[in-house]
Formats: sequence, C-alpha cells, structure tokens
Amino acid sequence: MRTILIGPPGAGKGTQAKIICEKYGIPQISTGDMLREHKRNKTPLGLEAAKAMDAGLLVPDAVVIGMVEERLKAPDAQQGFLFDGFPRTVPQAESLEASLKRLELKLDGVVLIDNVPDDLIVERICGRRTDKTTGQIYHIKYNPPPLGADLDHRADDKEETVRKRLTEYHAQTAALIPFYESRGLLRRVHGVGEMSAITEQMLAALQAK
Ligand code: ADP
Repeated sequence: MRTILIGPPGAGKGTQAKIICEKYGIPQISTGDMLREHKRNKTPLGLEAAKAMDAGLLVPDAVVIGMVEERLKAPDAQQGFLFDGFPRTVPQAESLEASLKRLELKLDGVVLIDNVPDDLIVERICGRRTDKTTGQIYHIKYNPPPLGADLDHRADDKEETVRKRLTEYHAQTAALIPFYESRGLLRRVHGVGEMSAITEQMLAALQAK
C-alpha cells in the first residue's frame, strides 16, 4: 500500500495514520514528526526549519523534499508507506511524483479528510496532548489521557499559531485536491464524527481502486 493522507491540521491524520499503518504493516512517514525530531536534536535542518514551524508557516520545499527523498530509500519503505503531512504544496507533490516515477512505483490512492470546519479544528488542536512515552494522542475534553500520563503540548498548538497553519493549508495545501483529483487518485472521507467511523471510511476508500 502506497498512500497519502491530506487534510487540514487537526483533521485527525496522525490518529488515523497509525491505525492504517498497523493494518497494512507499512511505515507512517510524517514530515511533521521528522522535522520535530530534527528540531529536538538541533541538527542544521532542524534549526533551519524551527523558525517556520514555530510561526505556523510551511518549511521551505527544498528542505522537506530532500528529507523525504532520503526517507524513501530506507528499507522499511520499500514495501509501501503512508505519508502524513507530505506533500503540502504542489511543488512537493510534483517532486514526489517524479521520485516515484524514477523508482517505478505508483500510489494506490490519496485520502482527503474533508468537511472539518476551522473552528472545530482550533478546538481539537488546542486541547490536544501527546503521551511522551507511547506517542498516543489525547484530547483533554474528548479523549482524556489517563491520570499521571507524561504529556506533551506542541509549541505550535496555540490558537494564534493554529490559525496561521489553517491559513497555510487553505493557501497552499488545498491545491493538492485538484492535483490528485485530476490524476484519478483522490478519495474523500467525511472528517467529522466518531473516530472509528472515519477509520472505516478510510479503509473502504483505500480498497476502492
Ligand atoms: P499539522 O498537520 O497538525 O499542522 P504537522 O506535525 O504535520 O502538523 O506539521 C507541523 C509543522 O511542520 C507545520 O506547521 C510546518 O511548519 C512543518 N511541516 C510539516 N510537514 C511539512 C511539509 N510537507 N512542508 C512544509 N512544512 C511542513
């Protein structure tokens, strides 16, 4: 399975990605997670990306594209992958298309998590916490973490920064919808409702080729 999840920040990509990856035994390639790791380790790439990330802006295409090309060469990506948070711009999508063509690989489908209103996104993200040990994602109101869990609150999960990330999504990432639609790859799922119902729609969308 080679697939991409598209959707605004907070649409549930990360949560759903984990379930799908487990089911298909493929790696989840999250450029957000990779960039945060670079930032934590203070690598040159991380230091370059940090400014944009903390401001809720996109990291330059060249930085992200180089990082993904490297990641695609790893042994675990040879049998399939799920991209979560990449591509986020048309140049990124074009670069991925060229890489896959070179490797003679085809995407099975691109799933768009759709119909999540911006205000709901802000509420979801501002309440989001991640367990530092397990990586499990919680919401302080809708999916409360267990007592005593060691939680992380992302630096860019403040309302003002979330609004910037949404602006970036509408201005740059939404252009991927017609891009993949014109290639016959786009599958839409309705992103509001029970998490399990959304998972079901996604799995059905990936099977419908
Ligand atoms: P979310 O989808 O919740 O906004 P991510 O964890 O995917 O969060 O990304 C966090 C930040 O990392 C983004 O706001 C952006 O600064 C940077 N980033 C992640 N992926 C990309 C990408 N493909 N292109 C440019 N910037 C990216």
